Amino acid sequence: MFLLSGLVASFGLSVRTLRAFITTVLSHYHAIPYHNFCHVCHVLHAVFLMLMTSSAAVILPAEDKLALMIAALCHDIDHDGYSNSFHGK
Ligand SMILES: [Zn+2]
Repeated sequence: MFLLSGLVASFGLSVRTLRAFITTVLSHYHAIPYHNFCHVCHVLHAVFLMLMTSSAAVILPAEDKLALMIAALCHDIDHDGYSNSFHGK
């Protein structure tokens, strides 16, 4: 998705570095029923599709698109599977 979005080319990102980043992010997700890396891939895919097929494709600058993709990838990092109510927040 990062490659297909054109963002890797736009920013001259190293595929090797991007792969290392994604692998590191993956290592911080837990094997829990919902907020796991599979869920994050679904969210990233939804964001990717919106960025590619909606007016966001022409309205948003590349920096915002990259930020949204990274935010989608990292949004549940280190989630322990419990809600804020459980944690008393
Ligand atoms: Zn989530």
